[in-house]
Amino acid sequence: MKKLLLTLGILLFFGIALLLINTLTFTSKQPAWPAAPLTELSPAAIAHLQQAVTYPTLSPENKAEFNGTPFKEFHRFLATAYPLADSLLHPEVINGYSLLYTWEGTDKTTKPVILMAHMDVVPIDEPTRNQWRAAPFGGEVVEEAIWGRGAMDDKGNLIGLMEATEQLLREGFRPRRTLYLAFGHDEETGGTEGAAALAKTLEERGVHADFVLDEGGFVIVDMIPGIDRPIAMIATAEKGFLTLQLTVTTNGGHSSMPTRENAIGTLATAIHDLENQPFAYKMIQTAEEMIAYLGPEMPFGMKMVFANKWLFGPLILQGMNNHTTIAPTIFNSGVKDNVLPTKAVAKVNFRILPGETPEEVVAQVKKAIDNDRVKVEVVVANSPSGISPSDNAAFATIARTLVEVMPEAIVSPGLTPGGTDTKHYQAVADNFYRFSPMKFKVGGDGPHSVNEHLPLEDYRNTINFYYRYIRNIQE
Ligand SMILES: [Zn+2]
Repeated sequence: MKKLLLTLGILLFFGIALLLINTLTFTSKQPAWPAAPLTELSPAAIAHLQQAVTYPTLSPENKAEFNGTPFKEFHRFLATAYPLADSLLHPEVINGYSLLYTWEGTDKTTKPVILMAHMDVVPIDEPTRNQWRAAPFGGEVVEEAIWGRGAMDDKGNLIGLMEATEQLLREGFRPRRTLYLAFGHDEETGGTEGAAALAKTLEERGVHADFVLDEGGFVIVDMIPGIDRPIAMIATAEKGFLTLQLTVTTNGGHSSMPTRENAIGTLATAIHDLENQPFAYKMIQTAEEMIAYLGPEMPFGMKMVFANKWLFGPLILQGMNNHTTIAPTIFNSGVKDNVLPTKAVAKVNFRILPGETPEEVVAQVKKAIDNDRVKVEVVVANSPSGISPSDNAAFATIARTLVEVMPEAIVSPGLTPGGTDTKHYQAVADNFYRFSPMKFKVGGDGPHSVNEHLPLEDYRNTINFYYRYIRNIQE
């Protein structure tokens, strides 16, 4: 007994020692670049984003309702607002509404870079229109911010990039490597008309870029309790997107004589079973890297957790939602209170972790439901992306530029749970990064939400980011 206690004591001692050593040797991976002097926002730059927001360049849920006129007006606005880009970077209209600017580099031996943004926006959710504190397509400046649908997603990026480009052209700047500015027009409905056509055009021209920078990561505030600094999440990968339709059909009948099987009950059971068998949390590369980049910046207790993933790994992965997620989103059945339903239909949305496939998810869903009466059909299936490296110059330049503009931020590679247009560019670039230099609070008034607005400070940072980034990637 004494020997056992002694052994346990020794193990505990070494366990604690290991925790402490790992914590104390967990060193920062933050880029050490000095803050850069920032250019203040000009009244013209403010007016440009205000005006950009006023064009209702909508991607309607039903593609048949697409109206191209505001896109054409938006093109004319860009030509007027950015005359040098319009004359020197010969913008081309691709597939009716997307735009491609080509900024020829002086050194044809270097690989080009593709900078992406999208000009379409999601519609306003009509029942919430009166909750907006400024008109959703008014482009007003209220409380030191520009308000309206698209101010953040993604006209803030597009206009920020154009402001920086025009400024660099004014200064006579010529890039060493060729830059493509590629602006899609249907990102919010999958990018199959815009980004896909832009990428195909580049492919046909034999373009193969070093990397792509698109939206998809933000500078997130108040994300982790105990960390006051904002976290710049530069997404090196994105989750896949899968929607499945589950259907149960029966013969129905009169509710006074219920049958043994009810379509609603059977489908509800299937969803219940599915939710009770979640997908496994996995320590993939993006999670390893987030731990390595964020951990050393945390207060001691949290740092100890992150420094010891051998012990706390499962806890961290749960906190990061690092698995394929399951979200039932639509459930329909029944027509009358005294009629047994003949059909129950549900849609379930999955966000697939890199490394897994839609086929594997479908197989696991069928296994979890384990009922042949439930028909499982694929509605949409996009595989997760590959993972781009974070130990190369492409990543380092994004990180460097961000800390030059926003020195208080912690940078980290990350995984975006949403999908971006980069999925269409796989054939024309080696690597893919997703990042917008704007602050975002989870649950705040951001992309797709009521009261979307971009604080002027973030807009200033965005322009400064692109201005410096375009210079920095030439080195
Ligand atoms: Zn977007």
